Amino acid sequence: MKKLLKGGVIVGASDCRKADLLIDGERIEAVGAALSCPEAEVIDVSGKLLFPGFLDAHTHFDLEVCNTVTADDFYTGGRSALRGGTTTVIDFACPNKGETLHTGLARWHEKADGKTGCDYGFHMTIDDWNESIESELDAMFDAGITSFKMYLTYPAMMIGDGAVYRALKALKVRGGIAGVHCENAGVIDARIAELKASGLGADVVSHPISRPDYLEAEAVSRLLRIAQAADAPVIIVHTTNRASLDEIAAARRRGQTVYVETCPQYLALDDGVYYDPDFSSAARYVCAPPIRSQEDSEALWKALRRGEVQTISTDHCSFMLEQKDMGRDDFTKIPGGLPGVETRGEVVYTVAINENKLSLGGVCRALSENPAKLYGLYPRKGVIAAGSDADIVVYDPGASHVLHGADMLSKAGYTPFEGFRTNGGVSKVYLRGQLQVDGGKVVGGKMGEYLKRGKCAL
Ligand code: MN
Repeated sequence: MKKLLKGGVIVGASDCRKADLLIDGERIEAVGAALSCPEAEVIDVSGKLLFPGFLDAHTHFDLEVCNTVTADDFYTGGRSALRGGTTTVIDFACPNKGETLHTGLARWHEKADGKTGCDYGFHMTIDDWNESIESELDAMFDAGITSFKMYLTYPAMMIGDGAVYRALKALKVRGGIAGVHCENAGVIDARIAELKASGLGADVVSHPISRPDYLEAEAVSRLLRIAQAADAPVIIVHTTNRASLDEIAAARRRGQTVYVETCPQYLALDDGVYYDPDFSSAARYVCAPPIRSQEDSEALWKALRRGEVQTISTDHCSFMLEQKDMGRDDFTKIPGGLPGVETRGEVVYTVAINENKLSLGGVCRALSENPAKLYGLYPRKGVIAAGSDADIVVYDPGASHVLHGADMLSKAGYTPFEGFRTNGGVSKVYLRGQLQVDGGKVVGGKMGEYLKRGKCAL
């Protein structure tokens, strides 16, 4: 059965135009003015904005971490994503140290296959480097994994500078790319010890104090110099602050290729959240890197406008408040991460449009087109055009609602954006032509498919 979405405004990265949209099965058949198709079901979307389904290239579903497991698995995380207009997630497959990449990949397929309502791909985490891991890389590309993740912090996952250098070179020759978590591990650990020794170990504020912006910028700078030596492109994931952006600008002036991701929590919140005297109210915002100052958030918006930051992902890594409670006596035991996959589109749209931070096209680029290009899914995903997957977000710019944790599909049970009034709202979501969300409710099933991705084309 064909579907004809009539009367909407098609949002693209470079233009918005009034046009009808004809869907045949899983694909978009045509986009144009006054389309007609007698056998199609006609859906009136007049007054609505039609975005290409949002891609969230940074989620952690069903992840064992911090002596617990994330609240959302691929089922609840997928529903939560869909409701927020996200039709594709790219999650991080994570072998444990000493395991093969194949083991990690098989485990992530087990977690995800047949269990989720949105399409999904995997990045592969490289938390060890040796000949045997290098020998697995070609098989990873064959499996549709073209992007990798490395950590400059977290003992369970971090690898040394030499390993990062070797891995970047090995990825480059295969046309792959790595996203890197940049924070200085050693100095942060020393500061944590100092804070604990001075009796501040139970204070949530010790979290941002132990991980200041400049220790993120130091790691960004070091990574970029390693990438210079390796002559390889890199992605800086979850970038939070101006000092890091300065390091990125310097590397670009040297001629390096650097892609930058940020997240809604760094764009729409500030570090005041950590100063709430109530433990639970403050602990819910603990994530790494931490939420920064308002000036940093301004710098990120400016960089988005200038195209210096390409993507907005969530780093969705959800924990219930009971899990956050594990750190009541020791802030380093608060599981780090925020839920966000359900609210990203509406929060970004609202701040972008209400405060003139970013154009509609800019929102489309950051949420859909750029992640699709960067992670090898374009033009199947990330654009409303004939031949592309019929992943469509029907966004009602006339709607408005207030975000409440109790209403979320995420199992976290809270939202970092509690009380946030949205401008507009996700009304319907189609994934490959199937209605997955209607009137803000998830109505579809576990139709999500694994996506084999191509190479970076941004
Ligand atoms: Mn992450």
